[in-house]
Amino acid sequence: MKKTIKDYDLSGKKVIIRCDFNVPIENGIIKDESRIKKSLKTIRYARKQGAKVILMSHLGRVKTIEDKEKYTLKPVAERLSKLLRKKVKFINETRGQNLENAIDNMKDKDVILIENTRFEDLDGKKESNNDKELGKYWASLGDIFINDAFGTIHRSHASNLGIASNIPNGLGFLVEEEIKKLTKLTNKPRKPYTIILGGAKVSDKIGVISNLITKADYILIGGGMAFTFLKAAGFNIGSSLCEREKLSYCKEMLENYPDKLILPIDVITATEIKDNTKTHERFINEIEEDEMGLDIGPRTLEVFKQYLDDCKTIFWNGPVGCFETKGFENGTKELFEIITNTKAYTLVGGGDTARAATTFNYENKISHVSTGGGASLAFLEGIELPALKIINEKK
Ligand code: ADP
Ligand code: MG
Repeated sequence: MKKTIKDYDLSGKKVIIRCDFNVPIENGIIKDESRIKKSLKTIRYARKQGAKVILMSHLGRVKTIEDKEKYTLKPVAERLSKLLRKKVKFINETRGQNLENAIDNMKDKDVILIENTRFEDLDGKKESNNDKELGKYWASLGDIFINDAFGTIHRSHASNLGIASNIPNGLGFLVEEEIKKLTKLTNKPRKPYTIILGGAKVSDKIGVISNLITKADYILIGGGMAFTFLKAAGFNIGSSLCEREKLSYCKEMLENYPDKLILPIDVITATEIKDNTKTHERFINEIEEDEMGLDIGPRTLEVFKQYLDDCKTIFWNGPVGCFETKGFENGTKELFEIITNTKAYTLVGGGDTARAATTFNYENKISHVSTGGGASLAFLEGIELPALKIINEKK
């Protein structure tokens, strides 16, 4: 068992909490604050125990100087202040005298939020490559490190693995809960067990299939993920999302698991991703050259339903269509209806998939909505997660 925040006396200690505040922000406005809300339990507990609370998080991917304005955590500090009813001091730097002074001046129960950890990526990807000096420096700012960012638990970054390598550490309540819920799927899941995969991060996620297929009875594939498989199966996919380097992998998977990998038989197509644009319902051998497949069709939903109806365990990552755009939301919405009408233990993971659950009002009907997409997939694969492994074991 891993140590948790409860295993430490936090009173008067500087406690660094790595949160997942990777929320959608447009023009300074937070579009979905559910990740912030889910981190409150750990922050509130640390304050109640009398800790000096130092919060860190990444936000988006920071590649250029211009990205800094788009990906500042300042709006999160403001939102957090309201939710905690306590001023959260925002430090617009990731290192330096100003930050160190602010921490030195903290009183018990004070809260500080440090700027986006990925600003350090502008200088040789120090955060994302777990630069040893950076991890050591951040660790030097606190006494105890608590990892409460499940979304990045599968990454080896300076702000998780790096800090944890240097000071006493444990898990926050959010990560503890995620692990408890996901373990239901790794430790003898009730069968039949079906996984639904979709979404747009195809190259990131397609590789997990070879591992997951040995654990689940079926994998239903929708969303952007489906089209590389459909192309590998010989269909013309028009301008749909396709990962060319993965075609031979997909072909091999389809040959090895013809009865376990289930692909769409029809899709909704259009020539642009725009609200209420003209759409077509096509069988997968009818997609035209200038069209993109942007949702699964009604016949595919019928097929998927047959695989899901009598399931005891269902995991879903990645929307099966561009659910944010009017005209392509039906597949994702109907799939929520189908899975929430089964008797299965239902676990849905991923930032966008979770957002779809909220958008269509299904979040309370699902057994567990995970904050991590890639992270939950990696956990289910059973591969080693260094940022989790490094956390101290209970004696
Ligand atoms: P998650 O955040 O849940 O892990 P992803 O980030 O992998 O999921 O993918 C979510 C995105 O996938 C959504 O923004 C959705 O619009 C997009 N998407 C779903 N289906 C398709 C498709 N057929 N073509 C292109 N994008 C798609
Ligand atoms: Mg996403």
